[in-house]
Amino acid sequence: MEYDYIIVGAGSAGCVLAARLSENPANRVLLLEAGGRDRHPLIHMPAGLARLATMTSVNWSYYTQPEPELNNRELYWPRGKVLGGSSSINAMCYCRGHARDYDSWAESGCAGWHWDAVKPWFMHSEDQQRGASELHGVGGELKVQDLRYHSPLSERFIEAGVQAGYARTDDFNGPRQRGFGLYQVTQDNGRRCSTAYAFLRPALERPNLTLLTRARVQSIRLENGIARGVVATVKGRQQSFEAGETVLAGGAINSPQLLMLSGIGRPDDLRLAGIEPLHEMAGVGQNLQDHLDICTLVGIKGKQSYDHINEFMAGLRYLLTRGGPGSSNVAEAGAFVASDLAQDDRPDIQLHFVPALLDDHGRNRMEGYGMTIHACNLRPTSRGEIRLSTDNPDQAPLIFARYMSTEFDRRMMVECARLGRRIFEQEAFADCRSQEIFPGAQHQDYEALLEFVRRKAETIYHPVGTCKMGSDDLAVVDPQLRVHGIDGLRVCDASIIPSLVSGNTNAPTIMIAERCAAWMLENSKSRQSVPPAAA
Ligand SMILES: Cc1cc2nc3c(=O)[nH]c(=O)nc-3n(C[C@H](O)[C@H](O)[C@H](O)COP(=O)(O)OP(=O)(O)OC[C@H]3O[C@@H](n4cnc5c(N)ncnc54)[C@H](O)[C@@H]3O)c2cc1C
Repeated sequence: MEYDYIIVGAGSAGCVLAARLSENPANRVLLLEAGGRDRHPLIHMPAGLARLATMTSVNWSYYTQPEPELNNRELYWPRGKVLGGSSSINAMCYCRGHARDYDSWAESGCAGWHWDAVKPWFMHSEDQQRGASELHGVGGELKVQDLRYHSPLSERFIEAGVQAGYARTDDFNGPRQRGFGLYQVTQDNGRRCSTAYAFLRPALERPNLTLLTRARVQSIRLENGIARGVVATVKGRQQSFEAGETVLAGGAINSPQLLMLSGIGRPDDLRLAGIEPLHEMAGVGQNLQDHLDICTLVGIKGKQSYDHINEFMAGLRYLLTRGGPGSSNVAEAGAFVASDLAQDDRPDIQLHFVPALLDDHGRNRMEGYGMTIHACNLRPTSRGEIRLSTDNPDQAPLIFARYMSTEFDRRMMVECARLGRRIFEQEAFADCRSQEIFPGAQHQDYEALLEFVRRKAETIYHPVGTCKMGSDDLAVVDPQLRVHGIDGLRVCDASIIPSLVSGNTNAPTIMIAERCAAWMLENSKSRQSVPPAAA
């Protein structure tokens, strides 16, 4: 079967690509997604996210290899395996990161990715509920809205931040990122606004867009350095698809896996996995970066948190009004803070406040009532990698996150733990907080807190960098996301991010897909999508 474009993966990036590329009726576009349709109601009711993180029907549910600096624990890494990908299971916080993040991409060899160049593309996708402004767009597919409901405890968290000496902000994507405030969310009037909902669903009306779900791509068809299409298992049957151009949008774990399965990577590593090397490329799977996160948990005196909430009543209220706790993204409030270790004027710690006790991604259901502050190191210096142990495409790749392998990252994580505790100690929580559960009173000095971090730190779900963009030895794609040395192949998802942004990664991934689609359309004969004037 022949197409102009094949897109592998209908996640945050893949759905945007499919929508944009199919705007031109002359383009025949095939979108292949390993997961199923996004029919489960918990995907669409925001508070359902607490369950999605562990639901294997919509989740790849990966684990890292034993992490040497985290007591050899194998950390749980949820990733979306369903239409919308991780945007169908994520916490919906809308954050772009800091302008300087993108300037540093450009300085590192990614020409054309400085803030002034990427800003119009964030705005292009956006439909900002508060209206258009210098930094926000309206009329785009992605609804960016204020929460319809948040807990009074989230207000206390913001107040506590102010009492601790930090600014209050009502927009983390405004002129100043730093401060304490409520997150804006990717929601459409209380309903999750995944990229499947926002971009793909309307585009599926078009006859030139074909979507196959339960279609797992196994390898790229390479002929003399040209990508000709893919081989996939569709509902259990192996099929071959041909295209003028193939785009991998399988995410930061699966895109490098697919390249390696297709013989693209480090020859020695490929041979070890039983794969014949076809194209040597040192950077495939390297440069893995993620936001490591540590939670501070305290109990509360009353029962006003979301713990043990009456799910039936919350669900009913949500069905009737699209409001109440069911419409909450749970991580309602947050902060961007510059610690004493900050190396420039950017915040280096991000907080997510959860008005409930949250341990181990919600897998450890705790007794009692309480609150959680997540704190993560925004710009880690540790680097991990993705490798293959076998040539079997159905086998999960090996994830070596190598968290905290630098002294700087260890010190940052202790700063994170200290900050969470300091916020809970403020007057704003004085009349409602009870005992500290984690880290616990016995963990006070640096060594004790580091020991606590080693025992409890987890991912906050932002792996990137494994097919990085650039022109150095580890770069896999060029600044237009074309795989170096191979014709007809691009990678477009969070894996191309060269260095982590200072914030959550969904909006940046959507921006990346917008740009990639525009370049692809520019290169195709008849151009339809008009890029924003300022870009
Ligand atoms: C639990 C969780 C919470 C998060 N919270 C937030 C948040 O609040 N805000 C935020 O901005 N970011 C958040 N993120 C991160 C953000 O959602 C991701 O960075 C982003 O979705 C990544 O987009 P992607 O396109 O790279 O990959 P994905 O969205 O993961 O998409 C990859 C898609 O490709 C498919 N696929 C993979 N391999 C194959 C194959 N071989 N064949 C066919 N299909 C394949 C997958 O099934 C998936 O659908 C969160 C992530 C998680 C997991």
